[in-house]
Amino acid sequence: MTAAAPDRAAYWAAEAVPLTGPWGGVNMAWAAVDRHVAAGRGDRPALRWTGRDGATATLSYADLSEASGRFAALLRGLGVGKGNVVASLLPRRPVLYAAALGALRAGCVHAPLFAAFGPEPLRLRLTLAGARAVVTTSALWARKAPASLPDPFDALLVDGEGWEDRLAALEPAPCVSTGPDDPALLHFTSGTTGAPKGALHGHGAIVAQHATARDALGLRAGDVFWCTADPGWVTGTVYGLLAPLAVGATLVADEGDFDPARWYALLERERVSVWYTTPTAIRMLMRAGLDLPRRHDLSALRHVASVGEPLNAEAVTWGEAAFGRPIHDTWWQTETGAIMLATPPGQPVVPGTLGFPVPGIEADVLAQAGEAGELVLRPPWPSMFQGYLHDEAHSRACFTDDGWYRSGDLARRDPDGRFRFVGRADDMIKTSGHLVGPFEVESVLLEHPAVAEAAVIGRPDPVAGEVVEAFVALKAGVVGDDALARDLVAHARRRLGPALAPRAIAFADSLPHTRSGKILRRLLKARELGLPEGDTSTLQDGGR
Ligand code: ATP
Ligand code: MG
Repeated sequence: MTAAAPDRAAYWAAEAVPLTGPWGGVNMAWAAVDRHVAAGRGDRPALRWTGRDGATATLSYADLSEASGRFAALLRGLGVGKGNVVASLLPRRPVLYAAALGALRAGCVHAPLFAAFGPEPLRLRLTLAGARAVVTTSALWARKAPASLPDPFDALLVDGEGWEDRLAALEPAPCVSTGPDDPALLHFTSGTTGAPKGALHGHGAIVAQHATARDALGLRAGDVFWCTADPGWVTGTVYGLLAPLAVGATLVADEGDFDPARWYALLERERVSVWYTTPTAIRMLMRAGLDLPRRHDLSALRHVASVGEPLNAEAVTWGEAAFGRPIHDTWWQTETGAIMLATPPGQPVVPGTLGFPVPGIEADVLAQAGEAGELVLRPPWPSMFQGYLHDEAHSRACFTDDGWYRSGDLARRDPDGRFRFVGRADDMIKTSGHLVGPFEVESVLLEHPAVAEAAVIGRPDPVAGEVVEAFVALKAGVVGDDALARDLVAHARRRLGPALAPRAIAFADSLPHTRSGKILRRLLKARELGLPEGDTSTLQDGGR
């Protein structure tokens, strides 16, 4: 059953109460940090950080409150205040957390950017955002500063001459009195299907972010939580910073790159209880084998969840072997601001399903029962986006005539109410009258013991409309030859039938991913067809 609108409104109103500041409004930084300090929990660990060189640091809630307060005071001194956009272009270091919270505390809009962006993607985003300042390091800014910038604009170099002294001389500023609709976050979407769009969220989003960390991820005060998402991506802000702090958990932050051995060691050493990662990372861990996790004591781990891309059934069951528990899928988007669908902790996981709407959310599929159709959500909810920046037309196009928010993803509903992800509406392949989602074909290819990762596209074909073509990365030590390609096609035909099975298999060392860990199918397709590559600013280094 889905809740009626008045019930949902009452639900969210009640959820907002503990996060509301003494001035009667909500501010993300207050809800995430200051309210714990005010309640006498300031000495609890908020952030445990491990640096690239193995250095570590622990910041308590009180430390974070003070550091973000000084940063907010610095902004204020520069005349940067309520409604101004403050971008961050920083490696994953403690200063990033203080800067993000400081901007929110000052009433500014926090706009995180991937530290790996070059000058052009930076110029594009800073200009679109009309950013008033960027917080960055000397080295990053020396390499990446775009030639043209908004005016006025300040580049705040956190390792610059006199920075520490300047901050130390300031009295920490309290939270600005913001309300739920005051803009707080500006996130650019992953650019998986086209040019990235800037999605705006108000301070009130923290209410849904807090509730979903509790209900969808099972987070409790005192938990040790690790979210592997890059802080330049919405998951990095919402579940890598705001929501777990709002719940009162301890964040684990790792500056280093993906490395299976180090990751398992970190899970063990930090005694991580809830872990949130991506299908790409899980597939890479699968590629590294089961010996590694078995050599570590992962007994503190209570819940493992994934987001960003379809989680193949193979990955869910592998989780049972590696962690002693299945991996729970969660579905949401930059626009939704928080998890919308999940199998809650403690409930049985049905591999290949996304789970149910979280409490307070009404979701549906615009199709006949059991058929695939667009996944839609019923507004409002607290973390619903306020629109795409400077793009009224796109913002409006996100809603049906009767007011549902359109996700642009296709889904299907099981008789028990669970949602299944079918594909992105714009990724679907039409072959000989059949509609094929790449995910379905990729999941079948992943069942084959030789396959580490697969990406499927539709190649235009005069007869079939499109034919299914697969790019496959193999497990270590496996050689991609004609015999294996034939074997893979035969396997897919057995499982999917000849209409849906790929006609051609191309082997690749690796597949192109976005920095948020999504396979860039549109890029594979453009390259295959010799078309322009389009916007590749979010492409992960080394993606070919
Ligand atoms: P853009 O909108 O710029 O094309 P994007 O949609 O990839 O990029 P995000 O907002 O980061 O940008 O990603 C949200 C999308 O990611 C969803 O719409 C969906 O397609 C996909 N996604 C998220 N979680 C899941 C999941 N659990 N299973 C399948 N797909 C998912
Ligand atoms: Mg999208």
